[in-house]
Amino acid sequence: MSRIAYVNGRYRPLAEAAVNIEDRGYQFSDGVYEVCEVRGGRLIDERRHMERLARSLSELRIAMPMSRAALGVILRETVRRNRVRWGIVYVQITRGVARRDHAFPAPGTAPGVVVTARNLDLANAERLAAEGVAVVTVPDNRWERVDIKSVSLLPNVLAKQAAREQGAREAWFVDRDGRVTEGSSSNAWIVTRDGKVVTRHADHGILKGITRTVVLDVLAAQGLALEERPFTLAEAHAAREAFITSASQIVLPVVKIDGRPVGNGAPGLVATALRRDFHRHAEAT
Ligand code: PLP
Repeated sequence: MSRIAYVNGRYRPLAEAAVNIEDRGYQFSDGVYEVCEVRGGRLIDERRHMERLARSLSELRIAMPMSRAALGVILRETVRRNRVRWGIVYVQITRGVARRDHAFPAPGTAPGVVVTARNLDLANAERLAAEGVAVVTVPDNRWERVDIKSVSLLPNVLAKQAAREQGAREAWFVDRDGRVTEGSSSNAWIVTRDGKVVTRHADHGILKGITRTVVLDVLAAQGLALEERPFTLAEAHAAREAFITSASQIVLPVVKIDGRPVGNGAPGLVATALRRDFHRHAEAT
């Protein structure tokens, strides 16, 4: 079955789906995106993802190209046409097509909209969750507004590649003060020896993950102690558990940081329980 993409008003086979070379997303990474988990063909936490999308657009002064309801119809239609049961739907909105000039194009330039969807390998995801994953650390050399989910991801690309080359699943960014900010495409968490769950507070220095937000609800429901604050790499090495969260990975235990085992080197009880209960707290529509 050939995959179908939505591109600026039309559904096209992926191989024929294309944007203009003067699209500002292509020229300047002048755009934003969202990724929603699809589970049983339904969208997980669509409302929160659409809210974050609207915020990212507003921070960059890109117009929302259509109502959230209309975008929701396109997301669902793209999921349906690609027969996605468990996977992701991706939406990207750019500042549109204009003759290349750094400053914003003329008012009224239509934003560019692309939506794709695909199945993910459920068995592989469950295996990763059961075994846990390795992370490596890299310096956080990103700009100061990573709270905006912009398609400008070059430091994240290089970080992920560094992880791959060291046989790890994810790279954690570490700031100048030795504190872990987040992963290249996930939020970072630890569980301290005395059982406190720690993740960085959501300021401009991390992307406020939707999975992170839901996990905070799961933690509260499980009666676990939470500290939203920066944690150092030394704390991570000394932690009882570590894990990452993102829409496509949900909660994934981290069992190795820079080659050193975390805790006893196996997935922890907290991460495993959070993963188990996650969808009881997420919204499926
Ligand atoms: N941080 C970064 C840099 C990301 O790219 C992502 C997701 O892609 C996340 C955190 C997790 O966000 P969410 O839970 O909304 O997927």
